[in-house]
Amino acid sequence: MLSVNAYAAPSANDPLVATTVERRDLGPRDVLIEIRYAGICHSDIHTVRGDWGRQSYPLVPGHEIVGTVAETGAEVASHAVGDRVGVGCMVNSCRDCDTCRRGLEQYCLRGNTMTYGGIDADGTVTQGGYSTHIVVDEDFVLKVPESIPYEAAAPLLCAGITMYSPLRRWGAGPGKRVAVVGLGGLGHMAVKIAHAMGAEVTVLSQSLKKREDGLRLGADHYYATSDPKTFSELGFSFDLIVNTVSAGIDPNAYLGLLKVDGTMVAVGAPAEPMPVAAFSLLQWRRNFAGSTIGGIAETQEMLDFCAEHGIASEVEVIAADRVNEAYERVLASDVRYRFVIDAETLR
Ligand code: NAP
Ligand code: ZN
Ligand code: ZN
Repeated sequence: MLSVNAYAAPSANDPLVATTVERRDLGPRDVLIEIRYAGICHSDIHTVRGDWGRQSYPLVPGHEIVGTVAETGAEVASHAVGDRVGVGCMVNSCRDCDTCRRGLEQYCLRGNTMTYGGIDADGTVTQGGYSTHIVVDEDFVLKVPESIPYEAAAPLLCAGITMYSPLRRWGAGPGKRVAVVGLGGLGHMAVKIAHAMGAEVTVLSQSLKKREDGLRLGADHYYATSDPKTFSELGFSFDLIVNTVSAGIDPNAYLGLLKVDGTMVAVGAPAEPMPVAAFSLLQWRRNFAGSTIGGIAETQEMLDFCAEHGIASEVEVIAADRVNEAYERVLASDVRYRFVIDAETLR
């Protein structure tokens, strides 16, 4: 066992504090990663604060992890010491169910092992990336392309793939009009990726405060949802709407912005339900869907796509002892556009 420095939530209500966690001895197929950076996802906050149900504490969040391979188990074939690697939201799955066999480990029918707060094969609770090191099965370790700086790559492991997967699945590309609701960590990656895919991109944000940023990131249009005119003006405009908002919104107002046969995809994951009126869907054959992260092969495809198109996350790098302040800023929608912890500050 390796005892390593980390930042953990002691409970649902207390600030995160410096601590240590145990990393298991390397199994034959395990990779020991020296973490360089870990992104702060809004899901970390939902999880530690108990929005999605009870957790066991102390809990080390962090599922946007990049670093360098420090050591490999005897049978590891796909990664070598010194490689630039990443780990996202999952560290294992059954590999045998229908969905795992289709490369959709994120929908493993037996339940995949999440990077933190999951139950590992040995029965222990997994601990995430706000830490100096992590041990992960080689099949759940991604290759981070050389051209993407480590800190800008970290958020791709969750925010990047969470947007890439639905944009691909629902056909974002030339001739398609895509709206991104919420310009935060996920939203800013959605804008960049949808733009790189060739779609016409519109941001629907609470205000026009981040308009210049949105246009610089690749949006063609930018509207404030606080202005009721937005909803009348944009009726029947979009082929696809991706909702990244971390709080409950009225989905019916947004469904009215879809063309006939258009699709609205929920990726934001507020605790509260979002009731959809049947008429919002049936009247114009509109679709309401959901999507969660992406499979391992698709995550590698996304990393390679981002490298090819020269895109990555816009980040604000912080020391680990600023994590609680960063959480407050994320909750206040005051993030441009992802906080990333420098793991050096934990050593
Ligand atoms: P984030 O950086 O906080 O961005 C969320 C954005 O939503 C904010 O920047 C803000 O954008 C908008 N927003 C926040 N509160 C709002 C409100 N009350 N009304 C309207 N808009 C509001 O969070 P994130 O890390 O991108 O994550 C977003 C959500 O996705 C979270 O619920 C997270 O748990 C979830 N998530 C899901 C997956 C998945 O696999 N499905 C993966 C990762 C995260 P504006 O300022 O532009 O309005
Ligand atoms: Zn996440
Ligand atoms: Zn499975």
